[in-house]
Amino acid sequence: MRVLVITGAGVSAESGIPTFRGKDGYWRNLDPAKLATPTAFQNDPKLVWEWYRERRERIRKSEPNPAHQAIVKLAAYAREFLLVTQNVDDLHARAEWEGNTLAREKIVQIHGDIFITRCSYCDLSSRNERDKEVGGLPRCPECDGLMRPGVVWFGEQLPLGEIQRVENFLDENACDFALVIGTTATFGYIIDWALRAIASNGELVEVNPEETSLSRFATHLIRERAAVALPRLVDQIFAQPPKL
Ligand SMILES: [Zn+2]
Repeated sequence: MRVLVITGAGVSAESGIPTFRGKDGYWRNLDPAKLATPTAFQNDPKLVWEWYRERRERIRKSEPNPAHQAIVKLAAYAREFLLVTQNVDDLHARAEWEGNTLAREKIVQIHGDIFITRCSYCDLSSRNERDKEVGGLPRCPECDGLMRPGVVWFGEQLPLGEIQRVENFLDENACDFALVIGTTATFGYIIDWALRAIASNGELVEVNPEETSLSRFATHLIRERAAVALPRLVDQIFAQPPKL
């Protein structure tokens, strides 16, 4: 079985990580959509770093939920598997199912990794933001440039290397299943990848309590929260007779 899974903020939200949308996402009355931008960082790097450090703390204290675990189970069973996540947290990587975890090469973090700190100028990146700090801001040990969180901000390009990994997976073969979970699919590439994945006769399953721009393309709609729907859905997928 060949499976593509795409996850968004809805999956992390059930582990207590606020999404950018709605009032829960607000931080000190600031709109995250305005903080997660190159301009905000240019104007007030300290403020943006404070927000990211708080988010990192919150993620460290959060635990993967049954949706994360069900995805590990699915990956363990599927012959070929790729997870593309818009989430910058590490909950997919930390999730376990019967001693299994998701191998790094099976996860694409298309919006980056919040635990990476990288230089704004050179290529240097690190998992230890306090390598070198001046005035409360991390500085590059190589070029002294201002270090920033390793995430993709609004208005920035997706990382080419990560796009290539998704493209390679899609080019290799068609998928039996594409599962799109907890994302509003407002970015065109989500719909594009999901449709390409099921090109021949695969199933496109959407798990989301609300209708999204992907819904009209889905072959199955599950209007439930991911942590409720996923464990059952994964069992149903395994119960299906293999396609000839
Ligand atoms: Zn540098």
